[in-house]
Amino acid sequence: MPLRVTFLGTAGAIPTTERNPSSIHVSRKGEGLLFDAGEGTQRQMMRFGTGFSVSQLFVTHLHGDHVLGIPGLLQTMAFNDREKPLAIHTPRGTRRQLKGLVNALNNRPSFPVRISEVGDGDVAYRADEFEIRAFGTDHDTNSVGYALVEDDRKGRFDRERAEELGVPAGPMFSRLHEGETVELEDGTVVRSEQVVGEPRPGRTIVYTGDTRPTAATVEIADEPDLLIHDATFAADRADRAAKTAHSTARQAAELASRAGADRLALMHLSSRYAGHTGDHLAEAREVFDGETFVPADGDELEIPYPNAPE
Ligand SMILES: [Zn+2]
Ligand SMILES: [Zn+2]
Repeated sequence: MPLRVTFLGTAGAIPTTERNPSSIHVSRKGEGLLFDAGEGTQRQMMRFGTGFSVSQLFVTHLHGDHVLGIPGLLQTMAFNDREKPLAIHTPRGTRRQLKGLVNALNNRPSFPVRISEVGDGDVAYRADEFEIRAFGTDHDTNSVGYALVEDDRKGRFDRERAEELGVPAGPMFSRLHEGETVELEDGTVVRSEQVVGEPRPGRTIVYTGDTRPTAATVEIADEPDLLIHDATFAADRADRAAKTAHSTARQAAELASRAGADRLALMHLSSRYAGHTGDHLAEAREVFDGETFVPADGDELEIPYPNAPE
């Protein structure tokens, strides 16, 4: 089950020639999820081939560099004769402002746009095999982060063991795998736990949006496979980060370490670091052992299952 992250825009508040404002596309089982939509997001979607069939848009906060791409994106979706509804999730207290963006210049999308507000601890979206949870962040406006958390998967079915116990191949295998108890023709009873292993954890992605470091980022998901964190500044500008409600790369790495994350993506770098990301990487790697990177626009990442065989 592929779970792919495409970094559409990785800039801080001001874009650079290399970096577009914030937006991240996640594709899971053919479903497109968009997190933030800075100016020019629609063009990044074209460039990097994510397609426009996005069902949900999750907005972390209403600063321009995270939402100014919404009017243009919706207009193009309408030009493409979109009919499917689009759900937009936005922090508490921002619905009206967001609606203003959706209807900018008296635009009325030709498809239903449903806006709902989310706060700390809410499940913003419940899908078949995963959910998107909102968590509180600490920025200078109403803001949330989002975590994609997959459900546990069924344990591994031990076919050999089932055959040893005399279970005939066929429907009984799947019933056992589903957790049922079966009775064989000779009256032997075989329970699911005799042939099915422990449930296996799904995958988790946490995206903070703009924020000072917060404990909620660690608490929202246990050992995320990927933490995408604000790293607007390097540690030499920690004062500035605190003042402007952002984080340094070192702070992001400390949280990644506390959360037990596997990978850390440092996002939203200030334009002052254009072309040199070395300090961010070096200071993060001092405190975090996992894979650390500064994604470029267009970078893609496939998230494997934890402990998946190589
Ligand atoms: Zn921002
Ligand atoms: Zn912001």
